[in-house]
Amino acid sequence: HEKAQILDDKGMRRAMVRIAHEIIERNKGVENLALIGVRRRGVPLAQRLAKYISDIEGTTVPVGILDITLYRDDLTTLANQPQVHQTEVPFPVAGKKLVLVDDVLYTGRTVRAALDAIMDLGRPEVVQLAVLIDRGHREIPIRADYVGKNVPTSRKEVISVRLSEIDGEERVVILEG
Ligand code: 5GP
Ligand code: MG
Repeated sequence: HEKAQILDDKGMRRAMVRIAHEIIERNKGVENLALIGVRRRGVPLAQRLAKYISDIEGTTVPVGILDITLYRDDLTTLANQPQVHQTEVPFPVAGKKLVLVDDVLYTGRTVRAALDAIMDLGRPEVVQLAVLIDRGHREIPIRADYVGKNVPTSRKEVISVRLSEIDGEERVVILEG
């Protein structure tokens, strides 16, 4: 059941607008910038960042999509294995400043798989990571460059990210595992 609300609609908007500003500042503008959302909820988040960035800078930013799911190959293994299903990246990644966007960062394995998929497409100038929620418990040396909110969790808890585009509501809550 629901334990606590982490963000409401206004809090989510503020966090994403702040990240849009941070991306522009860190990259000294938007030249060669492109975003890649990780399905499913990283995609609307990437599209929102692209809109906020273009509102601020007056330049459109391309958005690509990676579809990565975690599967458990046997029930005794704790760590899930990420699998890349589909890549829809309709621009060359070579020389780009790429920002990978996901809703929740946990062990880091999904990001690792995403980086492998990106590197298969070409050689970006730099890859950065933006997440709405960092819930901790990293198992590999991955960190986010842009974080909406750090939310310390137990492994049993789950962060529920509800986005209007997918879920018809805007909020982030912690669910008891
Ligand atoms: P990781 O690969 O870092 O262990 O997990 C990250 C991926 O799993 C992300 O794509 C994210 O969508 C999903 N994920 C992991 N933990 C949570 C969670 O607590 N809530 C949600 N909504 N997604 C999670
Ligand atoms: Mg995911």
